[in-house]
Amino acid sequence: MANILTGIAASPGIAIAKAFRFGHAAPTPERKTIEEAETEAEAARFREAVRLAQGEIEEIRAQTERRLGAQKAEIFEAHLMLLEDPDLVDVTLDKIAEEKINAEYALYEVTNAVVDMLQEMEDELLRERAADVKDVSGRVMGHLIGQPYASLSGLSEESVVIAEDLTPSDTAQLDLEYALGFATAVGSRTSHSAIMARSLELPAIVGIGAEAASIPTGTVVILDAAEGKLIVDPSEEELREYRGKKAAYEERRAKLKQLSGQPSVSADGVHLELAANIGSVEDLAKVLENGADGVGLFRTEFLYMGRSSFPSEDEQYRIYKHVLEKMNGKRVVIRTLDIGGDKELPYLELPKESNPFLGLRALRLCLDRQDLFRTQLRALLRASTAGKLNVMFPMIAVLSELREAKRILEEEREKLLREGIPVSDSIEVGMMIEIPAAALNADSFAKEVDFFSIGTNDLIQYTMAADRMNESVAYLYQPYHPSILRLVGMVIRAANRAGKWTGMCGEMAGDPTAIPLLLGMGLNEFSMSAGSVLPARELVGQLSKREWAAFAEEALAMGSQEEVKQFVEDKRSFA
Ligand code: PEP
Ligand code: MG
Repeated sequence: MANILTGIAASPGIAIAKAFRFGHAAPTPERKTIEEAETEAEAARFREAVRLAQGEIEEIRAQTERRLGAQKAEIFEAHLMLLEDPDLVDVTLDKIAEEKINAEYALYEVTNAVVDMLQEMEDELLRERAADVKDVSGRVMGHLIGQPYASLSGLSEESVVIAEDLTPSDTAQLDLEYALGFATAVGSRTSHSAIMARSLELPAIVGIGAEAASIPTGTVVILDAAEGKLIVDPSEEELREYRGKKAAYEERRAKLKQLSGQPSVSADGVHLELAANIGSVEDLAKVLENGADGVGLFRTEFLYMGRSSFPSEDEQYRIYKHVLEKMNGKRVVIRTLDIGGDKELPYLELPKESNPFLGLRALRLCLDRQDLFRTQLRALLRASTAGKLNVMFPMIAVLSELREAKRILEEEREKLLREGIPVSDSIEVGMMIEIPAAALNADSFAKEVDFFSIGTNDLIQYTMAADRMNESVAYLYQPYHPSILRLVGMVIRAANRAGKWTGMCGEMAGDPTAIPLLLGMGLNEFSMSAGSVLPARELVGQLSKREWAAFAEEALAMGSQEEVKQFVEDKRSFA
């Protein structure tokens, strides 16, 4: 195996620790027949494995509740119930007794039967339960074979987590005391586990390839998430070198923290808003710690994920109000539900689509399922008096969608006012620009919104026709490509002409190569992961907007991303 695996640097930082291989695959057990006299002992061994699994899940449940709240812990209640389910437990016990076979094989067969049955169900929710059954049964199996199941919330020593992939809920379970970073075999810079890592300020590399699976738990690794390298079993010399790099990195971060209370101003005195993206209330701590000028994107879909039913109006109201209060008068842009694409919601029971990124997602879905949309809008409007709320609609392609969304928002506002519930009269209403059609028609949209926020993660995916989740086409994620820059420039100019402001909340907004160009093009607000705010504040303080306006003109006329990148680097090194 190569000593160094390379991948995509998804969240910066350096970690040195033992690898912890995370995965759920258990080997297929062997079928062994046993003597009649042994069946009772075999059943007892199975019951003991179930008991150990129960204790483990109970612990994870309590831990998750403490760290992430009751809602995120709900899934483990369901797991505990499965361990009392006669279809799984009693049937396995019967099989041991009747067929006189080992517990591992009995459990294996029963699990497969239950999973097959669930997977054939019409109901999406029941099909989803198949994954839970596999998970729980894998945990019991782990105890039977003497290899207890790996759990990310149960790490007990400092580790770098190595996995095929991490779902957003796997990432949410990471115990940050011990998880110093992670590396996954698949994924891209804009996949949600990568975004989550950045908001947790956890060093991460994605897309290191299948070799990830051959790193045994316990091997020392160096995760260099600045360069996108994972060094497996490093030499003494490499360890020394990286300990030095890690110390230098931490020193720089400490220095940057001093900028936390400062305003965001360019070298020629232009004030900007450097805001942060969040996906939950928990992310606010990093936003405040890094002194962001606001929240430029609250991805509310995460409130709907990792649970089994929709959050109620009151629950949402409390969350939005809390965020507005915590931000204490600073701008908070809350985006309405953006479900679909890689963000699934099993209990919504949507029909399967062959192209989910091009399907009934985000605002399209909200206009189709108005009950959902209206509940969220009411919660937002009710919370609006607690701070400076901006409401933003995602994935708009045509004017009629924007008009319909605004009409529904207005209807809900009037209803609330009639009910005597106060609503702020200074809410700004804006839209994301993430579909090329909307960028090209920005002039028309600009007349009907208060602001734009450019979602480059999707805008690049749709402009380049390259799935943002597919690492084989990750080379087409080209934020500095002139095609992308021209679209961005077009949007900013359209907003300027209509006297509106433009933000950007895709990953590009925090990218140090893109920032000078965006500043030059006149972007007003940059929203990024909280950990990028201070480096961005330091950077803009060194840049003249006037100078970069001229450079951006030149860059826009180029033919490739490589030329633009080289050009920016040259100009920066002369500065
Ligand atoms: C985007 O598309 O750039 C964006 C910010 O939205 P998301 O990453 O949540 O799709
Ligand atoms: Mg998007």
